[in-house]
Amino acid sequence: MKLQFKSLGKPESISEKDWFNWMWQVRNIQNFGNKKSNFSSGATPYYLKLATKAPILKPIVEISQKEFYVGRQSLKDPLGEEKHSPFSKLIHRYPDRVLFLVTDQCAVYCRYCTRKRFTGKKKGLSSKAEQAEILSYIKKNKGIREVILSGGDPLTLSDSILDNILKKLREISHVEIIRIASRMPVVCPMRLTDSLCHVLKKYQPVFLMTHFNHPLELTKEVQESLTRMADSGILLFNQTVLLNQINNNPSIIQALMRRLLYLRVKPYYMFQCDPSEGTDHFRTSIEDSLSIQKELWGRLSGLALPNLSLDIPGGGGKVGLVPDFALQKEKEQWHFKGWDFVEGSYKNPVRNHLKIATANETYQKEWELLTNQTYGKKNSQTKKFN
Ligand code: SF4
Repeated sequence: MKLQFKSLGKPESISEKDWFNWMWQVRNIQNFGNKKSNFSSGATPYYLKLATKAPILKPIVEISQKEFYVGRQSLKDPLGEEKHSPFSKLIHRYPDRVLFLVTDQCAVYCRYCTRKRFTGKKKGLSSKAEQAEILSYIKKNKGIREVILSGGDPLTLSDSILDNILKKLREISHVEIIRIASRMPVVCPMRLTDSLCHVLKKYQPVFLMTHFNHPLELTKEVQESLTRMADSGILLFNQTVLLNQINNNPSIIQALMRRLLYLRVKPYYMFQCDPSEGTDHFRTSIEDSLSIQKELWGRLSGLALPNLSLDIPGGGGKVGLVPDFALQKEKEQWHFKGWDFVEGSYKNPVRNHLKIATANETYQKEWELLTNQTYGKKNSQTKKFN
């Protein structure tokens, strides 16, 4: 049977005009829990309605007493982003790409957020001076090929502000790829308007990175919005966070990934939850996450299978968590047992018969630029990739 998506509908007391207006949703962000927390709280009326209907989603937005316990690991800056920030709103952790924190505002304050130290501090849009500084840094560093707009949530900004930022980025000739990381498609699908599609289309290639965690987040409203984006040629990828008691079950994850793929959103990453402050109760054990990934392997199309990944606390970057199917690893052959227990060996070719392929000058120069690119903080902490 064809996959079906149910409409969330709107409350009777609110007009269609308001409910389906993304700016109305953002203006009317409400609190779900009333406990005090150092981290902002709130979500759009749309997502609050969804979480009321689907209580499994409530812990994502509701402040829980568990947040106030210091558990096994509790870090202010779990990814060590500050040490890789040449400016407070720019993170340069990898040689060829940077993360530009364009705003600290979100349309939902996820209780497991990695960047709690920055998000929702009511600073809003980065200032003109900050933007100019960041754009000039990107311009100077010719090895930067990709800019990821993040925050906060870049899609809480108006089309004209976004248009202006994208235009300036596209004026830098070595910026090849632009990514926009947003949870708006989940918590405010009405944000994905025709006018937004029109803006993004002008600056292709643009990748929209969505952040769905549960198949119940995929409503009819979401289906329509994602279809609009995909039909406009915007490439859609999803990042999921594995969350204890919310989605840490292979049947939930397979349902999410299959539906996303059907909606033309490629499941990209499935993250181990980062140990930011007050998130101990959200985290799954690495072993359990790997076991979910192993269950999905082979049963789920490779297109629908995300990369299970973890960010090394303190700033070590991402590492892939891959189920190990090798039974024996020897110089001459590796022996494997596959996902449905079929065994076989791969015999390595004799190494001294092998030759490295010759790269032409263009490819070689590109590689040298990448491997010599400095990144990180200015001065003492600047690193080289080798
Ligand atoms: S939308 Fe993203 S940045 Fe905002 S609170 Fe949620 S996870 Fe953090």
